[in-house]
Amino acid sequence: MNEVYNILVVEDISHDAELIEREIKKVLNACEFKRVWTEKDFIDSLSDFRPTIILSDYYMPGFDGLTALRIAREIMPDIPFIIVTGTLNEDIAVDCMRSGASDYVIKEYIKRLGPSILNALEQYAVRIEKNNTQSALVESAERHRSLFEDNIAVMLLLDAHNGQILDANLAASKFYGYSQEELKKMKITNLNTLPENKVYEELEKARKQKKIQFNFQHRLKDGSIRDVEIYSSRIKAFGKEVMHSIVHDITDKIKLEHELIASKEKAEENDRLKTSFLHNISHEIRTPLNAIVGFSSFLNQPNLSLDKRKEFTDIINLSSEQLLSIITDIISVATLEAGQEKFHKKEININQAMGAVYEQFCVKSLYPKITIHYHSEIPDKNAQIVTDGVKLIQVLTNLVGNALKYTREGKVDFGCSIKNNELYFRIEDTGIGIPKHLHHKIFDRFWQVDSTVTREFGGTGLGLSISKAYVELMGGRIWLDSEHGIGSVFHFTVPYVPVVKPTKSGSEEMDRHVEESISQKVILIAEDETNNFLLIKEYLSAPVFTIIRVENGLDAVNICKNRSDIDLILMDIKMPVMDGIEATRQIKIMKPYIPVIAVTAYAYDTDKKRLLESGFDEYLPKPIKRDSFLKMINQFI
Ligand code: ADP
Repeated sequence: MNEVYNILVVEDISHDAELIEREIKKVLNACEFKRVWTEKDFIDSLSDFRPTIILSDYYMPGFDGLTALRIAREIMPDIPFIIVTGTLNEDIAVDCMRSGASDYVIKEYIKRLGPSILNALEQYAVRIEKNNTQSALVESAERHRSLFEDNIAVMLLLDAHNGQILDANLAASKFYGYSQEELKKMKITNLNTLPENKVYEELEKARKQKKIQFNFQHRLKDGSIRDVEIYSSRIKAFGKEVMHSIVHDITDKIKLEHELIASKEKAEENDRLKTSFLHNISHEIRTPLNAIVGFSSFLNQPNLSLDKRKEFTDIINLSSEQLLSIITDIISVATLEAGQEKFHKKEININQAMGAVYEQFCVKSLYPKITIHYHSEIPDKNAQIVTDGVKLIQVLTNLVGNALKYTREGKVDFGCSIKNNELYFRIEDTGIGIPKHLHHKIFDRFWQVDSTVTREFGGTGLGLSISKAYVELMGGRIWLDSEHGIGSVFHFTVPYVPVVKPTKSGSEEMDRHVEESISQKVILIAEDETNNFLLIKEYLSAPVFTIIRVENGLDAVNICKNRSDIDLILMDIKMPVMDGIEATRQIKIMKPYIPVIAVTAYAYDTDKKRLLESGFDEYLPKPIKRDSFLKMINQFI
């Protein structure tokens, strides 16, 4: 060994010290010596000289070997310390050995010193080795404990035979809400939502394998249930078979999976519904179109009786209305889907609106086996309200229309009242009804209870979804009670916002106004389609109007340039030579006071906005209804 030994000799007599050095040199090759004999020098040397061995006399003036030994044990607990003394009685020797001396050597037998030193050094080496091993063991145990205790993964140690929780880490306590001590008093069956015997079956399976993965639901202390995935490995611990289990909370993952599956199913259903919608719609469009095309061809026959002509015209009108309503529905769905449908507040008289819906459907010949009733519990003085009248009437029309469509015989009853400061509508029929399990589906787009039944009754599966969207846009709710084969009741509400001042009905007022206030007026109609022009001309057939027609925008501009008596212009948008937008722009520069109304087949709200921004005073979408047309004309002349 090439190690240099620092040997601290505590000895007041230099001759004795030399004796000691000599003996030591016999057994150790490389040694450094230092001699001290006072307590202070001794203490200083422990830190300055860093001795490997201490050899101390027992009796010294002002200091003694036992004190040196105690000091040394405090500061360097493992250092070999040998008492070398002239005489030593037995009691002191025992005392020294008890206080931790490695050995004691009587000076008379100084030859023992060499072997004693070697022995002390060997014991020292063994002690150090043992200490090192022990601290490595402690460190390893601590590391493993920390890997379990401080791991962010939830970990449990379970008795593989009975599921007793033998240990639970901090993350487990945080996750389950129980303290670690509480968990250690529980079994895994107390956390599991499955019946005990099922959990034991799974545990048994796990015990037979070295590793296993389970999927369970665990109940936390606060009562909530979480989906967990558990990875268990069988190990030996606490002297028994233990399942070391890592618990993953997969509740959010499972939820996401369910959502994905649901949205996939929804997408598939939408796809299926769209296909059946396309089949339906083509049928729905062809039927009225067939009637229009077919009966129109009879109208030109010279020998057609007046009665027949009236009958055919009625059929053509009805079919046109039907066709128009399908197109309106499709546009409404598109507008709703694009989020562009708006709530247009206006005053309406709810009793009159109900009456108008009734009038629309009460034609006996159409539903000979059904009696239709309507009633309003709202006194006339409270019937003037503010809402989106167009949408409200559309919802009522859809629901009453459905009630009649899906009823072969019996009655259809609809009414309105005020409940909890809301307008409450109820539409009841004695028709085919809707099975209960389909009620939640009924307001979905394109959805129909049974396509064979629908084929019999007709329809596109859009009416209820539009109705629901409209009711919600107006701030209300819609729901139904219905029993298969018995009948249905549809209910809906909208906020009740009464108008205090009573007013006359809109159409009465309009007719009176048109008659009273219009003297001879000149109206310029710019329209390239002759049929459209003829229709407008028909609407303006009263003798008070002088009508001028042009077929393109440029002619309209020229007429305005040359005449000063134009009171109003009805302007088509899509025309040859110059379109209506450009023509209006030029007319407004020349004569900004002439009102120009856009009459167009562009029917979206965005089109209206675009046209009003480009200079038009108003906007009238095609197809033009007589009432709304005259009302608008009345606004300007
Ligand atoms: P449709 O154009 O098919 O009538 P709706 O959206 O108005 O479309 O209605 C969807 C489906 O709901 C209908 O196809 C029909 O199956 C069912 N339905 C609606 N109203 C009634 C009712 N009053 N009685 C029975 N079934 C109805």
